[in-house]
Amino acid sequence: MKILVTGGAGYVGSHAVRRLVAAGHDVWVFDNLVYGHRACIEALKLPPERFVDGELGDRALVEKTLSDNGIEAVMHFAAYAYVGESVTDPAKYYQNNIVGTLSLLDAMRAVGVKTIVFSSTCATYGEPRQVPIPEDHPQTPISPYGYTKLVIEHALADYHHAYGLNYAALRYFNASGAADDGSIGEDHDPETHLIPLILDVALGKREHISVFGTDYPTPDGSCIRDYIHVDDLADAHLAAIEKLTAAGGKPTAIRCNLGTGVGSSVRQVIAACEKATGKTLKVVEADRREGDPPELVADPAGAERILGWRAKRRDINETVASAWGWHSTHPDGYGD
Ligand code: UDP
Repeated sequence: MKILVTGGAGYVGSHAVRRLVAAGHDVWVFDNLVYGHRACIEALKLPPERFVDGELGDRALVEKTLSDNGIEAVMHFAAYAYVGESVTDPAKYYQNNIVGTLSLLDAMRAVGVKTIVFSSTCATYGEPRQVPIPEDHPQTPISPYGYTKLVIEHALADYHHAYGLNYAALRYFNASGAADDGSIGEDHDPETHLIPLILDVALGKREHISVFGTDYPTPDGSCIRDYIHVDDLADAHLAAIEKLTAAGGKPTAIRCNLGTGVGSSVRQVIAACEKATGKTLKVVEADRREGDPPELVADPAGAERILGWRAKRRDINETVASAWGWHSTHPDGYGD
């Protein structure tokens, strides 16, 4: 298939591109390179004409990219994803994540592209009432970021109903790790995620790692998350696009969690990083970070039932070792 990947120069998007290309799909990347990396496009070895440097809100350019290349489906990763920043600068999030995505959906309708896989998030659930979290758990986000993703989930459901849009909304838990061949990995600026921050301590780039909250109602007092390997996420996207297009033109709507079903505490992740790096890392106990629920773990049964997909890597040691494979060989990330 001819697939346009928005945000394909970013972390999860680039791993999906790599997987789609390996599966024989023709892939185009659309990215504004605000958080994505040109060096990532080079590492993916995409021909230059397959990369479009542009804004999602540039309706004419998106429409032209879709029609000129005969695109059949879109994977939409392009979004801002810093929860904290979404609280202090919500306009940026509403504009890009909602207005930009609605513009993309309009462009798709205008040229007759009817299939989209959308990057949603467990942040749409807010403070969970039950863990592991099933897909039918109420969605009451507690950050503007989570709300922007939920708005698009609703738009997709309404467009499915009214216009026959074929969609999958995939709710990621904590994306982690790096490509198994070491070609691409995680590079955020600023970095706020736990695993790369700990590995920066191992690299001597940071002095210590802070544990945000040690008095949560969890066995060791630190927060529990479900760390899902980015190559497993990529596999799930491939499964989703195959499912959507296998339906023989009948509009399909898929909503599912992408997680391992296994939770790891902050302290367990630090221990896994110490094991992977062979170093003892300086740990500082700190206050809770605002808006962090004690435990977020996916019920992954829906994805297995709907997509026939299950995370292959469910051991935090394996995921952390893969992240270290990238960080230890790319201490400056993509170097841009
Ligand atoms: N965390 C931490 N120290 C850090 C960064 C994160 O203790 O320097 C914790 C954070 O409170 C959360 C978990 O690690 O419980 C995962 O945070 P991350 O920002 O990686 O992902 P999130 O769950 O917020 O999407």
